[in-house]
Amino acid sequence: MDVDIKYMLENIDQEARLTADYTGRPRFADSVMKAMAQVNRADFVPDIAQSRAFLNAPLAIGHGQTISQPYIVALMTDLLELSPDDRVLELGTGSGYQAAILAKLAKQVYTLERIGSLADAAAGRLQALGFDNVSCRHSNGYHGWPEKAPFDAIMVTAASPFVPPALLDQLKPGGRLVLPLAETGLYQQLTLITKDEQGQTETRPVLAVSFVPLVDD
Ligand code: SAH
Repeated sequence: MDVDIKYMLENIDQEARLTADYTGRPRFADSVMKAMAQVNRADFVPDIAQSRAFLNAPLAIGHGQTISQPYIVALMTDLLELSPDDRVLELGTGSGYQAAILAKLAKQVYTLERIGSLADAAAGRLQALGFDNVSCRHSNGYHGWPEKAPFDAIMVTAASPFVPPALLDQLKPGGRLVLPLAETGLYQQLTLITKDEQGQTETRPVLAVSFVPLVDD
C-alpha cells in the first residue's frame, strides 16, 4: 500500500481508539478501512494542498468550504453500517471524497451540492476516476432528492440546527442518518438517527465536531 495512505489509516485507527469513550467504536469496520485505503484522497484535494493530502485534518477546497478530516469521514461512514445493496443520499458533495468512499460500500450514491462550481468539479472528478455509481446534482439539499427516495442511509456533511424534515421522510424504516447538529456556535454534535421498522426514530449524540453550515437557499 502507498506509504502516505498507510500513514493516514494509522492516524484514523489511533483517533478512533482515542475517541472510543464517546463514539462507542474503538475501531472501524474492515470494509470502511478498506474503502479509505482504496480511494486516494490526493485526487480530491486542490493542487495547493497536495503536500497535506494525507494529514488527518480538514483542508480548504475553495468557496469557504472544506474536505473533512479523514477520521471524521471514516467515523461517519462507519456509523451508517452500509450493506452492498444500499442506496445512500449525501448532502454536501464538496470535493466528492466522501461520496467516493460511500460508493465503495453501497450500491448507489446520490449526492447534492448547492455551489454549482463545486458540484460540477466533483461530478467530473468522480466520473474521471470511474465512480459509475455516484449521481451528482447541483441543488439545495434541504429537500433531499424526492425522485430517488427512499434511502437506506443518509449523510449530511454540513451543520444544521435541526434535522431537515424531508430527510427523515426519505429515510427507509431500518435506515440510518448521520449529521452534525447544533443550534449555534462553532461546534456541533455529530448525531446518529436510526429509524425502526415501525418508523420510530431514536437519536444518539456521538461526538463534538466542527462543520461548515448547511445553507438553505
Ligand atoms: N463531503 C464533502 C465535504 C463537505 S463540506 C467532501 O467529501 O469533500 C460541506 C458542503 O456542503 C459544502 O460544499 C457546501 O457547499 C455544501 N452545502 C451547504 N449547504 C448545502 C445545502 N443546503 N445543500 C447541498 N449542499 C450544501
